[in-house]
Amino acid sequence: MPSNRRIRILDIPVDMVEYSAAMEIFKKLMSTVDCSQIVTPNSEIIVNAAKDKELKEIIEQADLVIPDGIGLVYASRIMGMPLKERVTGIDFLSAILGYLEETGQSIFFLGSKPGDGSTLGVAEQAAEKIKEKYTNLNIAGIHHGYFKEAEEEALVKKINESGADFLCAALGSPKQEKFVFQNRNQLKVKAAIGVGGSLDVWAGTLKRAPEFYRNHGLEWLYRFIQQPSRYKRMAALPLFMIKVLLSKLKGGK
Ligand code: UDP
Repeated sequence: MPSNRRIRILDIPVDMVEYSAAMEIFKKLMSTVDCSQIVTPNSEIIVNAAKDKELKEIIEQADLVIPDGIGLVYASRIMGMPLKERVTGIDFLSAILGYLEETGQSIFFLGSKPGDGSTLGVAEQAAEKIKEKYTNLNIAGIHHGYFKEAEEEALVKKINESGADFLCAALGSPKQEKFVFQNRNQLKVKAAIGVGGSLDVWAGTLKRAPEFYRNHGLEWLYRFIQQPSRYKRMAALPLFMIKVLLSKLKGGK
């Protein structure tokens, strides 16, 4: 990873990439055999990574660190290394789905809530919607995200046996980053990404913010209106901005 593209926010690395550059890197990662890791940190993940050594190390070693969230764009401006735009995990995933469909490569969806016997799981519902849009996409396999540590080995085997080229891990952070990192050497996919609640958005169980909120950097406000119980997690954004300002004032990273 060329160092000039990578900036540090609260001492966590973030790649200064927009969609087209991110896609170019993605295509390169898909042309190698090893399992590359793509992470999509927002302010909350950066604040957590500054406290969680393992998560920080995972981001340090990731092959692509996408700046997901308006907080990172503001922070990059404060640090004097402005990012032109954020690359949201969900939009990047859409670009990936299009690329995989076009090139005949397959995907495994891992994560989100299982069905209860009478209803489909969130990942299955998301896959149905995704198939409506990407009709020729090859979905190699699907598995929900509520598994125990003891089940991980069997799950990795299932992913490998599906023959998938790419893994979409929607397990929430830091579970998704840690799952991919810890199993990187066993996984036969060429790359894996952690995309938080993206499958919920595809399934329709979580609504994406309307364009107005997205265009004005207010996605966090819409999310709060939808899920007020997340108020504690929402505090991460102002906290993050304060930390970035303080670190800038101190002249540090
Ligand atoms: N999730 C999961 N396994 C878990 C915990 C969460 O699959 O053990 C799923 C959850 O169902 C949701 C997704 O992870 O679909 C994202 O969760 P969250 O809202 O915490 O993530 P964010 O979108 O904020 O990154």
